[in-house]
Amino acid sequence: MKAVYFDLDNTLYSYDHADAAAAEAVQAFCREQFGLEPEYTHQEIIKIMNLLIDEMGWKQAATHDRLIRFSRFLQKIGQPVFPYAGIMYNLYWDTLIQNMVPEKGIYAFLRLLRQRGYYVACATNMLSAVQYRKVQHLGMGSLLEDMITSAEACTEKPDPEFFLFCVRKAGFAPEECVYIGDNYRLDVLGSAKAGLHAILYQTPDLAKRHEGAPAGVPVICDYTETEKNLDLIDGLKIS
Ligand SMILES: [Mg+2]
Repeated sequence: MKAVYFDLDNTLYSYDHADAAAAEAVQAFCREQFGLEPEYTHQEIIKIMNLLIDEMGWKQAATHDRLIRFSRFLQKIGQPVFPYAGIMYNLYWDTLIQNMVPEKGIYAFLRLLRQRGYYVACATNMLSAVQYRKVQHLGMGSLLEDMITSAEACTEKPDPEFFLFCVRKAGFAPEECVYIGDNYRLDVLGSAKAGLHAILYQTPDLAKRHEGAPAGVPVICDYTETEKNLDLIDGLKIS
């Protein structure tokens, strides 16, 4: 193996908890400003998210754009887009970033992979600016050689083209690369279809909320199990 690619959300840090805190902050804001029930705000924003995927197609990174979602939501409830969409956008991301917790052992694991000579990068579905901000805030920038987003790749996981874009960009063949991510469908099936070696990252906490992998799929459940994880990666054969 020559390169190890990591997903970002729920793989380098705890997305689920941070997203829940951020969504709650936006709901509380909408209750104070507009008198809306939090559950109403929650449900309407989910509807808008799905509508945007229908409109744009699932391969567009802009489907994740909170500014678009909040603008649509404000129009739906008859409130001005300016200044509220920007206020909600900043509130959402500032809260999420403040609530991020790095995955246990991740810094040491990234450092070790670099020391062993692996090319280490992050490859993520999302717009670039906010992912860049997360990595900076987590202090992981110096441990990653690159961050590729679906905005740059012009397609999203699980499209194999996303993974092929990432490996070609760095000059690797897919079989020389490992992809590690928490989402079985997006990360494991997608990268395996592109010819990369796929590893599911699933802690006991993530296992409570997310689909597991069938027997035979390699799993990392704790980054601090360093030797076991390195053996797993080193043992993957270039076919
Ligand atoms: Mg993820």
